[in-house]
Amino acid sequence: MNHNEPLLKEADRCVKCGICLPHCPTYSLMRDEGDSPRGRISLIQGIASGALDSKQASRHLDRCLGCLACQAVCPSAVNYGQLIDGFRTTQDKSRRQRLTHHLITRLPYRGWGRIGLWLYRHSGIRPLLRTLGGSRFRRLDALLPDQASVGRWNQHYSPVTPKQGRVGLFTGCAGRISDRQALDAAVAVLTRLGYEVIIPGDQGCCGAMHQHSGDPVTAAAMAINNQQAFGEKGLDAIVYLASGCGTQLIKQPFTTPVYEVSQFLNHCCWPEDSVLSPMDCAVGLHSPCTLKHQLKLADEPEKLLLRIPGIRLVRLDRIECCGAAGSYLLEQPDMADALGARAIQQVPVQELQYLATSNSGCALQFTREIRKTGYPIKTVHPVELINNSLNDTQ
Ligand code: SF4
Ligand code: SF4
Repeated sequence: MNHNEPLLKEADRCVKCGICLPHCPTYSLMRDEGDSPRGRISLIQGIASGALDSKQASRHLDRCLGCLACQAVCPSAVNYGQLIDGFRTTQDKSRRQRLTHHLITRLPYRGWGRIGLWLYRHSGIRPLLRTLGGSRFRRLDALLPDQASVGRWNQHYSPVTPKQGRVGLFTGCAGRISDRQALDAAVAVLTRLGYEVIIPGDQGCCGAMHQHSGDPVTAAAMAINNQQAFGEKGLDAIVYLASGCGTQLIKQPFTTPVYEVSQFLNHCCWPEDSVLSPMDCAVGLHSPCTLKHQLKLADEPEKLLLRIPGIRLVRLDRIECCGAAGSYLLEQPDMADALGARAIQQVPVQELQYLATSNSGCALQFTREIRKTGYPIKTVHPVELINNSLNDTQ
């Protein structure tokens, strides 16, 4: 039996109708059948059956973002995510790719990693490395957020109003650095609403990056680590901020329910005195692909933000994938730049004070694109706006 049989079986469900094509960000950019879902499925069929050399097809398959916009509209219910992830397990990873994934997913948890980042930002080494480092290094440096924090976490935060419950906060790997302000805001909001917040020190990366790049073994090891880190802590819920992490966390057999933070805040009980004060601002609301197509929670941030009196939300629904897609923005720089440039064109930058998005990678990508426009728009996670509005009432 061909060991690729399961891949071929799933690929055969595709009837080649092409309904997915207008929804595929890489197809609309490249206008090449090889960069469409239908084309990629045909390439996988060719390679898995031995009729095609993978070298010929790899550039098209590597350019797939894994955004699953195609899967969301497929009338034949082709599980494209399973197909592309399964295909990638059959392909060798480059040393560079393995090293990139290792650094992104492990470094933020190491004390020396945080010290190294602090030194990098505050000693004279940064301008030097920007000059001497290659284009890949300069790209990574440009993505480093201005407010990136290297501070340590407490493992326990007490509620500041009568206790309603106990939640575990999943920080994410890159998010520990890039989303620090949003994570601090989540702690502030949750404790203000009466939740004790536990941030287990032994939690790790969710494993999404490994899962989607063909390394399910490492992803499974990461899942076990997180189950142990969040287990037996008497938690009522596990809350995460980055939707990219959420897609991986919800597949894992935690004994505690897992919620996206807006979803949790929309469903928990707010104490009577926790009134949100008005905010006179226009906020562009971006829905990450992971939130829309995989978690199906696109309405939750909107529902949450509409609690703030006076806020004006501009839904940025026409934006296709922004090109962040995990490590894609590092591994496919030209494509990521083109997708980012296209995404920002859909943002009415002259009208907004904030751009709210629920995924760390998208936030990095938009921050960089907004910087290029020169408009003073702040990229935030929705929970940061809730925290600002709650703080104003105290
Ligand atoms: S993946 Fe689905 S929508 Fe796309 S061509 Fe195949 S059957 Fe049609
Ligand atoms: S996952 Fe996204 S980029 Fe990949 S084929 Fe589907 S729509 Fe296109």
